[in-house]
Amino acid sequence: MSNNKNEMSEEDYLKRHLGDVESSKKTNIPSSFSDLVEPQAVESNRTTDLQYLSFDVKDFPCGKFYPVGTMFMIRPAQVREIQAYSMVDDKNIYDVVEKMNDMLMSCVRIKYSDGRMGSYLDVKDQDRIYLVFLIRELTFQQGNSLSVNATCDCGQELAVELKRENFRFHDIDPKLDRYFSPSTGSFVFKTVNGKEYEITPPTIGLQKAFTDYIIKENAEKKSPNLSFLKIIPFMLNGRTSITYDGIKAKLDEFQNMDDISFQFLNAAVDKMTFGIQKLAKKCTCGEEVHTDMQFPNGASGIFVVHDAFEAYLKE
Ligand SMILES: [Zn+2]
Repeated sequence: MSNNKNEMSEEDYLKRHLGDVESSKKTNIPSSFSDLVEPQAVESNRTTDLQYLSFDVKDFPCGKFYPVGTMFMIRPAQVREIQAYSMVDDKNIYDVVEKMNDMLMSCVRIKYSDGRMGSYLDVKDQDRIYLVFLIRELTFQQGNSLSVNATCDCGQELAVELKRENFRFHDIDPKLDRYFSPSTGSFVFKTVNGKEYEITPPTIGLQKAFTDYIIKENAEKKSPNLSFLKIIPFMLNGRTSITYDGIKAKLDEFQNMDDISFQFLNAAVDKMTFGIQKLAKKCTCGEEVHTDMQFPNGASGIFVVHDAFEAYLKE
């Protein structure tokens, strides 16, 4: 598809919108996983795979943005889900996100403290990768570790596994703390122009709705408003969907916004980077070695065993 007057392709728009998959770089927040509900050993026997294990959201990168007492029920991936995932196009960020979403759709249920159940559509967009790796951990309990090599200052080479205990999350700007409302799971800000704004990371449901919108706009040779796409998904707390017309109405509001509000919201959303920032592991010398979050062997490598031919061929 060529769009002559738009300098950005559909993939470029999607990359911006789905940016959290690609990069994770900022500062360090050591987080404790010590009180995580440890998964019980799941046998490789496929009949036991539908067993869901409970996880407390407070250990997730966006944990504070779910209602208090929310639990995630997560199970290992089954062969047919791994088969579907294995066809992911590593070069197509839209496909990577879709395949990850499909994996969450199969393996994740949400249980709210009032007994209501939720789906992957309620998951915060920036928790996606963390959950994909959690499913991976449950799926490959007999080894099959995915790791990144790093060198400690002492000269020791370390393999840092991509697993929960080695994940370090993005830090939340401490300036934001006093504006956080635990009852709504969002930040509430009053601005000097007399406005009040509520901001919270968007859900996967919203992310999908905006992705569909970008695709539709591109198909009609229209350039989506990037600044709108950056900011508005953070202003829809409590929602897991929005219609095309709903997005159009929001766009109208956005374009008629006063300058102070826009500048404020733009800066506030810049502070909303969560998720896995990097990997860390303690070296035998006692120092902690850090390395960038990355997908060794691409996004497909999360569930596709890289050297399966050699590993599983009987000599
Ligand atoms: Zn060392």
